[in-house]
Amino acid sequence: MAKPKEFPKQSQSQPRKEYKMHPQPEIIRADYKGSGKLKDKVALITGGDSGIGRSVAVHFAREGAHVAIIYLNEDEDALETRKLVEKEGRKCFIIEGDLRKEAFCISAIKTCISEFKKLDILVNNAAMQFPQDKLTQIAARQLKKTFQTNIFSYFYITKAALPHLPKGSSIINTSSVTAYRGSHHLLDYSSTKGAIVSFTRSLSANLASKNIRVNGVAPGPIWTPLIPATFDDVSDFGADTPLGRAGQPSEVAPAYVFLASQDSSYITGQFIHVNGGEIIGG
Ligand code: NAD
Ligand code: MG
Repeated sequence: MAKPKEFPKQSQSQPRKEYKMHPQPEIIRADYKGSGKLKDKVALITGGDSGIGRSVAVHFAREGAHVAIIYLNEDEDALETRKLVEKEGRKCFIIEGDLRKEAFCISAIKTCISEFKKLDILVNNAAMQFPQDKLTQIAARQLKKTFQTNIFSYFYITKAALPHLPKGSSIINTSSVTAYRGSHHLLDYSSTKGAIVSFTRSLSANLASKNIRVNGVAPGPIWTPLIPATFDDVSDFGADTPLGRAGQPSEVAPAYVFLASQDSSYITGQFIHVNGGEIIGG
């Protein structure tokens, strides 16, 4: 009988933390010029301590927004994100906790509102993945953890945020290229990412009359802590894309700026595919 692996063991050389990564991901291009697209807006970004979320936080700040970030336990990374946002002259509020718990999501939104008095942009971005070669290796515990982290949390936090979101606000959900083309070794993860696509489309229809737009970004291979933390061999990560390389967070975050700003005022229920050129439907 196939014995389900619990979670894959993480070796010490596989950092979950951005400050331990080599090479360091590019957070924002040195020549990225802000133009006040998000002036005085308030954004909440889950998983904003590192990777794509950190990069989104810094881009939003350069465009004039204050940000709050939620992260699991990576204090050093979260403090660094705060430093980077403050360097842009904006405020950053960091909130540590587990988004799998609805009570925490409710209290995180309360904290954010009491700090900033409003919320204009919600970025659902936190996720985990546990690669397994066979379906039989996916233990119930892993399955639950993946769904609770990657999709239940999007429901919890959005539900809690909704009463505070004004007309013209924007919700942006992070899916993945794996939602569209599948992934042979990320069966549970890619399923949650597919659920995020459907959640985004359904919620966009549900909130259109309130003039709250709901869109998403579906990244391909991006160099973030998630990658060395979960894959043993990252030497050819991204090499199979048409552009022949992995992307940097700095190449993903501008899509979030677009979807958060009034530049995308007539777009809802859609995904932007920042994936190095892979053609996929939807
Ligand atoms: P990352 O590890 O830097 O960011 C994910 C963050 O989620 C973590 O920093 C962690 O603090 C947070 N998180 C995880 N579980 C949590 C929990 N229970 N409670 C609170 N916070 C929690 O990785 P990333 O690659 O920047 O991932 C960001 C998003 O991009 C994810 O949704 C991921 O699925 C998606 N994505 C990444 C890639 C890629 O190649 N890196 C590709 C496609 C999609
Ligand atoms: Mg992190």
